[in-house]
Amino acid sequence: MNAIKVNAIPTLRQLYKKGVIPVGSSTSRTSVQNTLLDRISLWQGDVTKLDADAIVNAANGSLLGGGGVDGAIHRAAGPELLKECRTLRGCETGDAKITKGYRLPAKHVIHTVGPIYAKSQDDECARLLASCYDKCLQLAVGLDLATIAFPSISMGVYGYPPKDGAKITLSTIRNYLELNPGKLSQVILVVFSSKMMDVYLAQISEIFPPDVDCELDSVGL
Ligand code: ADP
Repeated sequence: MNAIKVNAIPTLRQLYKKGVIPVGSSTSRTSVQNTLLDRISLWQGDVTKLDADAIVNAANGSLLGGGGVDGAIHRAAGPELLKECRTLRGCETGDAKITKGYRLPAKHVIHTVGPIYAKSQDDECARLLASCYDKCLQLAVGLDLATIAFPSISMGVYGYPPKDGAKITLSTIRNYLELNPGKLSQVILVVFSSKMMDVYLAQISEIFPPDVDCELDSVGL
């Protein structure tokens, strides 16, 4: 099944140390150690491969499967997932529902429905996207799960502008973890393309600034 172990995926601190995350020139390192840097990861790949306690599905309101990441999750999980989804009677935009992971390496799937982006309703779309992340995190914490992996909700077919979407993603997760200390040992942001990776990398240092213990590892010593 070639599952990928989430605890082998580098954290933000490790990405800073390797020089993968660019530190903006104006960013100074905070002297207080920020433990969130050890609990958040950014990774490019296929979310269906991860052995997380929960992976998040960017579903549609029917919860009966679709394209993109939704299709990939249903294909990998097998028909039992669709069977359980049928019992859930859909999901509102901005809300989330949980199922088992069936044939996935992940134990659970948290299905959330992101907003279909419309520029004329930018504020409402932002509120709904943040709500997706909040509801997924609440469900995971409510079941005492330790690890959760998110694809870029609404940032595919639903058209959310990646830069704005990434900012909402990062700040909502930071706020939730700050308000719920000690919950969730690892939150993995999964990007599918290197273009999306670059969008996230450009924003990390603003929302998760490096601390004193993020010095670059010396090369060649
Ligand atoms: P939405 O309808 O919410 O926009 P999509 O599935 O169209 O959802 O896209 C959401 C994001 O998930 C996009 O950035 C897309 O590239 C990405 N994606 C698609 N397949 C996968 C996968 N197997 N693993 C991780 N991310 C994926």
